[in-house]
Amino acid sequence: MTYDDNNIFAKILRGEIPCEKIYEDDYVLSFYDINPQKKIHALVIPKGSYIDLDDFASKASEQEISGLIKGINIVAKKLKISSDTGKGYRTLANISENGGQEVPHLHFHLFGGEKLGKMIV
Ligand code: 5GP
Repeated sequence: MTYDDNNIFAKILRGEIPCEKIYEDDYVLSFYDINPQKKIHALVIPKGSYIDLDDFASKASEQEISGLIKGINIVAKKLKISSDTGKGYRTLANISENGGQEVPHLHFHLFGGEKLGKMIV
């Protein structure tokens, strides 16, 4: 599968579609999910063109990989849901068909702001 430049998150990255931005640096963009599933539902995406986590793990540079992981932590802190607040959150990446991935640009969901219950229901 090749990366589709016209996926919705690629358009958001290019500024062609607006988003409610939470955070941005050289490696990541974070914004609120348009259809929140929990009180807080944020997305963190790498700036590079990667379809999913497997694509990212095999092609991304060490800086991009650490930038994404650090970006998730920065966003969690910004949203005051990180573990050091005593709250915590859940992060999730859907991968390909069986994972239920809808947008073919790697993204991590961050859910928080309330008790999340069981991981899979
Ligand atoms: P997936 O199922 O691929 O893991 O998740 C895709 C997520 O992207 C969904 O939670 C969906 O609500 C969100 N989404 C889809 N289109 C847009 C959009 O245009 N803007 C934002 N902010 N989120 C979107």
